[in-house]
Amino acid sequence: MFSNTFKKTAVMERDRCSFCKGKLSNGKTEFIAKVGDVVISIKSVPAYVCENCGEAYFTPEISRKIDEIMEDFHEARLLAHPLAAGEVELKI
Ligand SMILES: [Zn+2]
Repeated sequence: MFSNTFKKTAVMERDRCSFCKGKLSNGKTEFIAKVGDVVISIKSVPAYVCENCGEAYFTPEISRKIDEIMEDFHEARLLAHPLAAGEVELKI
């Protein structure tokens, strides 16, 4: 009964959207970020997606993988070997 008073910090423990309180369900989303002047998109990222507003939540493991991809992409840019079309697949 008092469990709602504890703040949940781990993303994967949430079952409600923090914006609209909508229900979260297992799904996939597209992660889009800007690196310098290039937009990078990562397709089919596993996420908890709000059924109401579409906001996506990542588990700590997934957000770490996204960080790794972003770092790789950044290094590739510095080495002037840009990845094709800025689209990457998430390898799990
Ligand atoms: Zn929502």
